[in-house]
Amino acid sequence: MPEFQNIVILTGAGVSAESGLATFRGPDGLWEGHRVEDVCTPEALARDAALVHRFYDERRARLAEVRPNAAHEALARLDAEWRGELLIVTQNVDDLHERAGAGAATDAGDGAGRVLHMHGALQSALCARCGERRPWAESLPTGRICPACAAPALRPDIVFFGEIPYEMDRIERALADVDLFVSIGTSGAVYPAAGFVRTARHHGAHTVELNLDPSAGSFLFHESRMGAASELVPAFVAQLLGG
Ligand code: NAD
Ligand code: ZN
Repeated sequence: MPEFQNIVILTGAGVSAESGLATFRGPDGLWEGHRVEDVCTPEALARDAALVHRFYDERRARLAEVRPNAAHEALARLDAEWRGELLIVTQNVDDLHERAGAGAATDAGDGAGRVLHMHGALQSALCARCGERRPWAESLPTGRICPACAAPALRPDIVFFGEIPYEMDRIERALADVDLFVSIGTSGAVYPAAGFVRTARHHGAHTVELNLDPSAGSFLFHESRMGAASELVPAFVAQLLGG
């Protein structure tokens, strides 16, 4: 493999599939039995907040029953050992990258870790009124009071379709300097994440896809390796780290 300095990794639901968390667009196109429009849009929240809150309560509770798999562990190893720049941008709302040991805040830079949840996180609550985000481990019923502004407006801190993902500036900065872009376990159907490979190529990066089956954007990558993340990712990381 050529020499690389700056790496951006994009992960999707496929990385957590072998931990037992269902992906989104399985054969039935549903997320845990629900149509995306019913649980993952601002309109759904306005129409039936109780359903949306219950859905994410179930997803949050499920985190206690699953564990990181070999793919998360390999990416945590990369985070610990990679001396160049690295940003792991995840579309996942689970905490399995962190539980494997990735994303700890470093002393360098602004103290931010190398894992970025662009679509929010199950273990976080967002105030729809004042915008404050706070760690949230329990269930989150509708109408819960925001401690910051006292509005009964806390909602799951999930970026719904039509909402702007988190930290796009930081992602764009990383992509402007990237020389290796790796997409893992994502269907390439959700923008803007699906467009990152084009941006990375525009900046001259080598681009690799690791996925169970070819994604919608497979043709955009220089290299595609097909298989289970728990096998492909450890092998790829070992190759990057030289053994
Ligand atoms: P997706 O469900 O649309 O696509 C998953 C991709 O992973 C598919 O291309 C599939 O072929 C691949 N895949 C499945 N099993 C795999 C395995 N064992 N190894 C490697 N690849 C595998 O996922 P997405 O593109 O991330 O989009 C889903 C959206 O839904 C995200 O934005 C996310 O916020 C949300 N979501 C999150 C979770 C989670 O946090 N674990 C789970 C489901 C959905
Ligand atoms: Zn508030």
